[in-house]
Amino acid sequence: MKYEELRPREINQVLRECPLAYLVWGAHEWHGPQNPVGLDTLKAYHMTLELCQRTGGVVLPPVYCGYQTMKPWARFHHTFEFSKDLVLQYAFEHLENLYDEGFKAIVIVMGHYGGKHVETIKRAVELFTEKHRYVRVLAITDYEPASWVNVKGGDHGGKNETSLMMYFRPDLVDLSRIPKDGLNAQRDGCGPDAVEATRQHGEMLVKTFIEQAAPKVSALLEEAVKGWPTEISRGE
Ligand SMILES: [Zn+2]
Repeated sequence: MKYEELRPREINQVLRECPLAYLVWGAHEWHGPQNPVGLDTLKAYHMTLELCQRTGGVVLPPVYCGYQTMKPWARFHHTFEFSKDLVLQYAFEHLENLYDEGFKAIVIVMGHYGGKHVETIKRAVELFTEKHRYVRVLAITDYEPASWVNVKGGDHGGKNETSLMMYFRPDLVDLSRIPKDGLNAQRDGCGPDAVEATRQHGEMLVKTFIEQAAPKVSALLEEAVKGWPTEISRGE
């Protein structure tokens, strides 16, 4: 299921039975004193691994390449800011490679939510799908599927993201780092409601994500496989 751990024969089997690839997109970014800087990538990666268990397919190694991070916006350190052009090109070439390898449906799960960053990834998908007719691509933030049933997620190191981290990797969250006077968004660079984070809340967000995303992804794959011409050359 982890692409980089599979041998060629196993990948061939995936391509025959379930030609679906997930690409997780995150960043290195300050997420408050209590969270690790890889939060965006780590939680989206774990969420996607669980989703992949439900739908089949493979998960690519997560990409740490964020545009519109906390650095240019508020000078937070421990944050890597990459350019829009690089993110666009890197996403586009990932899609091209996955297509060339024979995947028919591709899902990009974004753990980093900067508005312009999301726009850039979606633009890469647009450029790619204008070029290739049959492949199906979906690019979503990791909180979007829950929003289809009005469950709100998608903060910045606040209650939601901190809870997700506590669910997947409690060893990486240290709530004792929260200042005695509470969190201040400007000073601490995260949602002040992180003080309410719990493992149970994280679990609920993950379950909602999987319940909502799995049928949508399976439908995407089915559509791609059904619509795929029998004799298509891979460069079509
Ligand atoms: Zn985040």
